Amino acid sequence: MKKLIAGNWKMNGSLASNEALLKAVQAGLGAAVCEVAVCVPAVYLAQVQGLLAAHALLGSGSQVSLGAQDVSAQEQGAFTGEMSAAMLREFGVRYALVGHSERRQYCGETDAGVAAKAKAALAQGITPIVCVGESLTEREAGLTADVVKRQLAAVVHECGHCITEIVVAYEPVWAIGTGKTATPEQAQEVHALLRAQLHAATTHERRVKILYGGSMNAANAAQLLAQPDIDGGLIGGASLKAQDFLTIIAAAH
Ligand code: PEP
Repeated sequence: MKKLIAGNWKMNGSLASNEALLKAVQAGLGAAVCEVAVCVPAVYLAQVQGLLAAHALLGSGSQVSLGAQDVSAQEQGAFTGEMSAAMLREFGVRYALVGHSERRQYCGETDAGVAAKAKAALAQGITPIVCVGESLTEREAGLTADVVKRQLAAVVHECGHCITEIVVAYEPVWAIGTGKTATPEQAQEVHALLRAQLHAATTHERRVKILYGGSMNAANAAQLLAQPDIDGGLIGGASLKAQDFLTIIAAAH
């Protein structure tokens, strides 16, 4: 299975800086052996779609897939500020983050709500990247397994036989944007647990990519990506620096 390296630009960028960043990534990409995606702020989906399409016409090097950072669980209607999966699809979106810890924390997203978003994405052929992860307090209380299993269970329950179509991202909250990365062993332990949980739902659990996210960078990516159950990375800060992002991509083989 090809690994997936997905950048999460979060609420960063501008028309000018997005173009410069994407061009630098595309120029350095060559024939990447892994899949690459960028999850961009919604207002820039059209711009990035255009830039990716223009690059695809050149036909050289690997292509970068487009991702959104959220998606509505609703199909359409009176939901001010929301974007449906069908709308995202019109802009060539291939992946949508759901349940990122920042949204769980600041926007009150619940396990059930995240699961509904994953289902809505799948219904439009968009692959949800389901983020799960424990806080520092939860880890210190020995609750890591309970928390991530509860978060994933909601999605397994909602998505049923489509569960092999999702991507999971294990992102310990204490490691996101903090510079504190989980050790490869800590990450692998949780990834193995998530894999076992998927196995209980499908015999094709190996088809589900489980990404690690949380201060993955150019220096630590290779060791994390070498773990047997780490199938890629969800990269925040380091995805905003073309050279660092490219180094992580090169480590994903
Ligand atoms: C993220 O936002 O998903 C993330 C992993 O951020 P960072 O790499 O900056 O910790």
